[in-house]
Amino acid sequence: MTSEGPGGATRICLRLSSPTVKGILALIEHCRAYADLAEIRIDLLEPEERKNLAALPEAAGIPLILSARWPAGAGELETERTQLLTNLLDSGGWAYVDLEDNRSMDRVADAARSNRVRTIRSRFDFHGTLLDGTVGELAAWIRSVAAQGDLPKLETLCTGSRQLLTLVRAALATQDIRDKVLLGLGEYGAASRLLSGRLGSLWTYGSPEDIRTLDILYRLREFTHDTPVYAVVGNPVAHSRSPTIHNTWLREAGLPGTYIAMRTDDAAAMLEICDIIGITGLSVTVPHKETVLSLCDYSGHLARKIGAANTLLRAGDGWRARNTDAAGFLAPLAGALGLDSAEQLRGKKALVIGAGGAARAAVWAMADVGVDMVILNRTADKARRLARQVGAKWGPLAPESQSLLADGVDFAVQTTSVGMHPKEGEDPIPWWNPSDCTLVYDLIYRPEKTRLLLRAEAAGTAVINGALMLEHQARLQFELFTGHPAPD
Ligand code: NAP
Repeated sequence: MTSEGPGGATRICLRLSSPTVKGILALIEHCRAYADLAEIRIDLLEPEERKNLAALPEAAGIPLILSARWPAGAGELETERTQLLTNLLDSGGWAYVDLEDNRSMDRVADAARSNRVRTIRSRFDFHGTLLDGTVGELAAWIRSVAAQGDLPKLETLCTGSRQLLTLVRAALATQDIRDKVLLGLGEYGAASRLLSGRLGSLWTYGSPEDIRTLDILYRLREFTHDTPVYAVVGNPVAHSRSPTIHNTWLREAGLPGTYIAMRTDDAAAMLEICDIIGITGLSVTVPHKETVLSLCDYSGHLARKIGAANTLLRAGDGWRARNTDAAGFLAPLAGALGLDSAEQLRGKKALVIGAGGAARAAVWAMADVGVDMVILNRTADKARRLARQVGAKWGPLAPESQSLLADGVDFAVQTTSVGMHPKEGEDPIPWWNPSDCTLVYDLIYRPEKTRLLLRAEAAGTAVINGALMLEHQARLQFELFTGHPAPD
């Protein structure tokens, strides 16, 4: 999509609530540097504060949306609201008035028209049922509101990637309508809020708590139709540090672009969303690393051998799958063993604990440089299959595999999730004595030191955790995404 907000950037609307007008002004002042407009919920004000509202637009100094979400009520309440809104609109200075789409408020709409205040017709759906309908139905509603000269605004929960896709398709189907706001709520809808400009929305919302992040970390207000967009996709993904890492690198390198987190429960839907929005680089994490390989048009040799991709690149003719986990794993290994280069790893003996996705990346990386390996896994058959591919020894992750280690190993690589939450404090291989080897490398980075690393350290063995691997693979991704090295 190529739609943009006015001026080519995404506008940020400060959504604030305060019981007093003084409080509202203080919040606007606090966030002024990051906000383009602000929405004032007058229904959240103390009733006696309403008399101070007429002076607010001038004092605020930024465009204001007048919003009053009283619960639907008959008689006096509705009359009171209509009167209050009409009086405020007549007092002047408001940029927009936000009226629920399903409430007929003709007097307020008339007052808005005669005072040249734009009327927003908004729909809120906190259950996501609107997105269970068709794209055509959504698009028809957007068109009918716009045809009346009003601004359609939809905020709806996205309960999964398919629902976000419906919202994104509706935005695509109505991209000729420049004045609209379509936002998906919840973690699955985050992309539509952060990339609202790309979806042709006039603005996105920020709270006093997160508006600085939207402006400084994501740089949404610098956004244009050709700003590169990257994302980390996984489920869950809220804990990911990748947006902070990549956005900081982009800023420090002086490169345009923003990097967001997209919770994804359907990789195919996610790729279609990326195609529509124009996301060109993806970091892929659990549980999609294997699935994405079959959805891509091309895959690198290493990704195919490993059977998983953690990096996707959108080239002109399709998605390309790459794996930077293997190189990221290898990068700190030689140094940690006191060697000058990865070539010197040839002939070294390694114990590999685990045979999952991370193990496959580590094993193929070590196989490529000639490390001899013994692979032990809880599910012995997985160890067998992986070991056969690279000519390694294998066995169950149990004391009966002691004999495979009788000649000793130079170093051990721990690749299981045992040692991190919810198995923090557990040791995947309590029967093995790490004192004979030079290094234990645990791919877990949170906690910083697992029980196994603490045990190895106590035995006088050097240890490293997975933080360097994480950083190295992210650096490689950054370079693949942008064509520039990540700043130090
Ligand atoms: P995965 O594909 O699900 O593999 C999980 C591995 O852990 C399998 O070998 C599994 O054995 C084993 N395992 C799980 N529970 C176990 C238990 N109770 N006892 C013994 N073994 C158990 O996951 P993954 O993607 O490989 O990730 C594994 C770990 O690597 C995670 O802690 C992850 O944070 C870390 N990692 C780090 C980086 C980094 O950059 N530092 C990158 C990727 C992954 P079975 O085959 O028997 O199920």
